[in-house]
Amino acid sequence: MKDSFGREINYLRISLTDRCNLRCEYCMPEKGVNKLKHADILSFEDLYELTKAFVELGISKIRLTGGEPLIRLGAIDFISKISKLDGVRDIAMTSNGVLLKKYAKDLKDAGLNRINISLDTLNEAKYEKITRGGSLNNVLEGIKAAREVGLTPIKINTVLIGGFNADEIPELVNLTLKEDIDIRFIELMPIGEAAEYDLNRFIPNSLVLEKVKGLKKVHNEDISSPATYYKLPNAKGRVGLINPITCKFCSNCNRVRLTSTGRLKLCLHSNREIDLKKSLENGEDIKEVIRKAILTKEEEHYLEDEKYISRNMNQIGG
Ligand code: SAM
Ligand code: SF4
Repeated sequence: MKDSFGREINYLRISLTDRCNLRCEYCMPEKGVNKLKHADILSFEDLYELTKAFVELGISKIRLTGGEPLIRLGAIDFISKISKLDGVRDIAMTSNGVLLKKYAKDLKDAGLNRINISLDTLNEAKYEKITRGGSLNNVLEGIKAAREVGLTPIKINTVLIGGFNADEIPELVNLTLKEDIDIRFIELMPIGEAAEYDLNRFIPNSLVLEKVKGLKKVHNEDISSPATYYKLPNAKGRVGLINPITCKFCSNCNRVRLTSTGRLKLCLHSNREIDLKKSLENGEDIKEVIRKAILTKEEEHYLEDEKYISRNMNQIGG
């Protein structure tokens, strides 16, 4: 399925829930989010209908995210069902890893191919602080379990936050020396709780290249990936830099997003949404609705004009 700029759209990111078992300071309010009414969230039946339509239109890669996708009951059965759809080549997940030790094997058996785990620090006390109560050990055990069952390649996502984790860059990069793990540094975006942050908390991830000498750029076959990859000599894993603020990767964008409330977001940095839940309820030809919507996908994002995205990251899924 092509958009009006000739880009092949083959990647769907589905947010299974906007709720989470952590409260990362930059993402969620301390008290959590207002509980959505059951009727406002897409049921798994509707999610399956929509996913099937997307796949029939050419989506081959699906990522489940959230909030925390592993807290939505039924997520594993859903993976099992969508993995059987003709045309699905890759199912991935973005998770905080807290429940991964418990679910890694079931996820793999259901058809999940790989997982990205969010981890902003390797220090227990700092982890507890930034997540407002999380335990680093749960995540480390989750990463181990994911590796053991073959949910690979494992990617670790680290949001760089001024005054919090810049000092840990070398230690985080060194994780790639012995393990076949990619670590990706993501620039903090002025979304959600971070919209109110002081400027000094937003640091460019070129700092990684300044702090770790010897990183060499490596070729990335996936041209739609927002990451530029580097490697240390003899390292097993790669170091990725994702610069949603200082750099644009719109010309190769192949993705669209579906929120847990059934809204289609064609661009992460736009507030425009298309209500697919309503279209389903109205019995509209959902494939036609999606096809038409894709043709309105934005050419690129204009962070300067639309600086404040009204949804928080836990609703969009990153
Ligand atoms: N709960 C899961 C997790 O943490 O991996 C999935 C959802 S979370 C919203 C997805 C990603 O968005 C995480 O890696 C998180 O660190 C990132 N994120 C949240 N708020 C952000 C912000 N303001 N700027 C940049 N990344 C952000
Ligand atoms: Fe939850 Fe992920 Fe947001 Fe942290 S970043 S609060 S784990 S949704």
